[in-house]
Formats: sequence, C-alpha cells, structure tokens
Amino acid sequence: MAQERVVYINGEIVPESEAKVSFRDQGFVTGDAVFDATRTFGGVIFKLKEHLGRLYDSLKYMRLDPGIPQHQMADLTMQVLKANQSLLGADDDYWVIQRISRGVPIGGGKYKPTVIIECNPLPFAARARYYRDGLSVVIPSIRRTPPECMSPRVKVHNYINLILADQEVKAQNPDAFSILLDINGNISEGLGSNFFIVKNGVVVTPKEQYVLAGISRETVIELAQGLNIEVQEADVDLYDVYTADEAFVTSTSFCICSVSSINGSTIGDGGVPGPVTDHLQTAYSGLVGINIVGQYLKRLG
Ligand code: PMP
Repeated sequence: MAQERVVYINGEIVPESEAKVSFRDQGFVTGDAVFDATRTFGGVIFKLKEHLGRLYDSLKYMRLDPGIPQHQMADLTMQVLKANQSLLGADDDYWVIQRISRGVPIGGGKYKPTVIIECNPLPFAARARYYRDGLSVVIPSIRRTPPECMSPRVKVHNYINLILADQEVKAQNPDAFSILLDINGNISEGLGSNFFIVKNGVVVTPKEQYVLAGISRETVIELAQGLNIEVQEADVDLYDVYTADEAFVTSTSFCICSVSSINGSTIGDGGVPGPVTDHLQTAYSGLVGINIVGQYLKRLG
C-alpha cells in the first residue's frame, strides 16, 4: 500500500486516517471556518506569505482567532509539506491548505478553534483535457453573493453559493465550468477561479471588490504589466465576453487555463490558447520554474 500522507491537526502531525474532527465542530455545523490554499511547483511552495496574508485577513474578517501567529502558521505549513515530501517524494506537486474553524463549544459562548494543515495531490489527470480543449463556460442563473451580504474577498468554507451555481450548470452539461454574474449582471468568478478576457491586446478582469483576490489573478496582473500588456480591472458584462478575442481563468491549481466558449458561443476563433494567453502562460511557467501547461498535458489519457 502507498504511504499515507500526514496532516497537522490541533498541535500534532498525524497520519491522515488518525485526524478526527468533532461532529460539534462549527465548521461542520454551520460552515463557520476559513481556509487558504497554495501549491507547490516542482516541490517548491508558491507565495506562502501572500496566501497566509489572505488567510489572516479572512480570519480577521470572521473575528476568528486561530491561537497561532502568522509566522508560526508558516513554520507549521513548511513542516507538514516537508514531512509529506520525505514520506512520498518531492516529485508530485500538492495543494498545501490551512483550514481554521470556530471549532467546538467549550461553554460560556466560547469555542476552541480547530486548526488543520494538509497536503492534497493536484488534479492534473482529471483536468488535463481543459488545457488541450479550453473550458466551456456556462453562466448559471444564481448570482455571486454580493459584498453587502458577505464579502467575496474572504475565503470562507461556506461555498454554497458557488456550489449551487455549479450544480445548476453541471446538471445541464457535466463538463461545463460555471462562472457567475454578480447582482449587477457583470461577470464575477467561478467555484475556485478568477476570470479574464483579452480584447484588442488589453487584459481585463472584474474588480477586486466583487471577487476573491486570487493570488494567481494578482500574479497574472503583475506578469502582464511586466510584459507591457495593458491590464484593466473593470466591470465585464456578457457583451464584453461574447466579443472578446480570448478568455481565461486563473487559480492556484489551474494557473492560467483558456476558455474556449461561453454559453455555447465560441471565444475569438476558438483556438486555445490565444496569443496573449499563451504569452502569459509562458511567463507564468518562467516565474514558477516549470512548464505549467506541460505539467497537465503530460497526464492526458
Ligand atoms: N475565486 C474563488 C471563489 C476561489 O475559491 C479561488 C481559489 N482559491 C479563486 C478565485 C482563485 O484564487 P487563487 O488564485 O488564490 O487560487
């Protein structure tokens, strides 16, 4: 049997099968928990400081104290990653995820938070075809939670809004990828990805106020600026998307993956990746030191 991965849970690093969470944990009972997920590239963790910065902003927003300062969370994260790499080898790349829930009630309206740090293999094989064919995006009727109700910038465990939207899309086309509109009818984001279009050489993405401030989104904006490609953070409506030359999503796992159609309408000439997307993928690969597209494509069945 393959070696089992290990996980940090509430002060100790144990085999995953020994990590237990109470059924009274508020993360389970009400979804009252936050998380963040970075990944490794060639075994090296990516932008841990930026991910932990976002994690601690999410904790602050949720008034949740993990009882562990940020620098110690960084040390523990590295310990968990190294432990898994020495058990399983550093060849495979992982998501590296911190999860903090309000935890279990300890009386007097107080809770003992649950802290978990885990490594999870990235879904290269399952998603390889999206790099070959591009993503078929479908817009669900469900709109992204507006900032007036809960800021989409906070990375909470409660993904129900995004999950419901994705279920609606998948019920019609199991292979489609959902991207939600916000309540004003502009594009927001999907179940784990930010969205970009390219029109006349300009890269445009929805404003940060309405979406999670993706670390990959920020990385792409910086790479584009370094390549003298103009970037705009602006409202993107469906007209903008239907008439775009290129479109792509960004996320920690996907990095940059082309969109080939939206609601059945071909983006540009349908060829993926488009020239600007290709340029950005090459720059991303240069930054992280591995071929991000090749890492997926080599797993094609
Ligand atoms: N939006 C949502 C809702 C997400 O869950 C994610 C994934 N964390 C993203 C966007 C992309 O963010 P990142 O580039 O930091 O993975």
